[in-house]
Amino acid sequence: MIVTRFAPSPTGYLHVGNLRTALLNWLVARKAGGRFLLRLDDTDPERSREAFAEAIIEDLDWLGFDRDETFRQSDRLAGYREAARALEASGRLYECFETPEELELKRRAQRAAGRPPVYDRAALDLDDATRAQLRAERGGHWRFLLDRRRIDWSDGILGALSVDAESLSDPVLIRGDGQVLYTLASVVDDLETEVSDVVRGSDHVTNTAAQIQIFEALGGRAPRFSHHSLLTGPAGEALSKRLGGLSLRDLRGAGIEPMALISLMARLGSGDPVELRSSLEEVVAGFELARFGASPTRFDPAELEALSTRALHQMGYGEIAPTLATLGIPPDLAPDFWEAIRGNVARRDEIANWWAVCRGDFAPAVEEADAAFVAEALALLPPRPWDGATWAEWTGRVKAATGRKGKSLFMPLRQALTGRSSGPDMGALMPLLRGPSSGG
Ligand code: GLU
Repeated sequence: MIVTRFAPSPTGYLHVGNLRTALLNWLVARKAGGRFLLRLDDTDPERSREAFAEAIIEDLDWLGFDRDETFRQSDRLAGYREAARALEASGRLYECFETPEELELKRRAQRAAGRPPVYDRAALDLDDATRAQLRAERGGHWRFLLDRRRIDWSDGILGALSVDAESLSDPVLIRGDGQVLYTLASVVDDLETEVSDVVRGSDHVTNTAAQIQIFEALGGRAPRFSHHSLLTGPAGEALSKRLGGLSLRDLRGAGIEPMALISLMARLGSGDPVELRSSLEEVVAGFELARFGASPTRFDPAELEALSTRALHQMGYGEIAPTLATLGIPPDLAPDFWEAIRGNVARRDEIANWWAVCRGDFAPAVEEADAAFVAEALALLPPRPWDGATWAEWTGRVKAATGRKGKSLFMPLRQALTGRSSGPDMGALMPLLRGPSSGG
């Protein structure tokens, strides 16, 4: 059984970078008919917030990523302690007492001597008396004793990877204040929830090397790991600085269509061109993790916006119907209304403007020089109901009566009937114009 998980820390809002991780894990599970879990990595009580946890769930719902299970690390602390005890019993977890300042001094000295800044395991040499004294004085933190050999794995995206454990510091698994850190908690959870595949950012490669040894030390087997490349801005700049403005809620607020976002993210960084998909099922069908590559992936918000507008232009009535209903557009008019205006909206929030036009709720926009012409034309307006042929008939009559043609004929009439100088095809729009000021 393929089991994947998305494991954000509820310490902020999800951004496009997290979305990529969530999407790839969701796709791996759904493509294989497996399970997708949401795990909230909330072991840090100072930084985790319930509001962020709720926001994460809301954002995933907006995207349509359904979950087979949702759980929190803060509910599972006892299991992490038990795992820590097992590691200690097998000699793989040891207590250290260096302060951050002391560690920094060691690192500096190592660098100055041209050596890698790897923790020197000095704590292993302490005698029991010193240990007891330090523990009483300052409390200890706990490190995992790495087996200093090469750690090899076949990465689902990066291919054959090999990290020399000699180059890694023994990772801290439990802080001085007793807080179990992600490095251990994640392994315990991945084992217990039988996670088979982990897709995460390439900033986790070093973590993965250490975690593979922790999986084994706990008597388990590491899942398959795949590390996706990190997103950069359009010019290749690090995206991290701009991520604030690229939170999923900001994108949602800016009217970005979720399917546009998903279609883009499902292809960015793969060898395949971006294709606008209209459903998650289509995205699943066209997904191949192995197509993704190692090089940094450029994310261009302008490309997303353009794709989102295209998604709206192509959207069928069935999909937009709920939105139209919320706007109070009667179901008997809604299909024709959508057909008439969809090519003229870049975002959903613009739909209401066109509905206002149909209701006659707009400020007249006729140029003064056209006022007499418009008055004459309105007198020729056929009585309702109007249909798809009304505009052509009417403008034909006005043309014959006034001699105006082309833009000088059509523009003032459009302005009189809609309050705007551009918009949907007037032939399609006229049957929908019901409003008081639409001249009828
Ligand atoms: N909470 C971790 C993070 O957001 C999870 C990493 C992982 O997928 O293991 O970076």
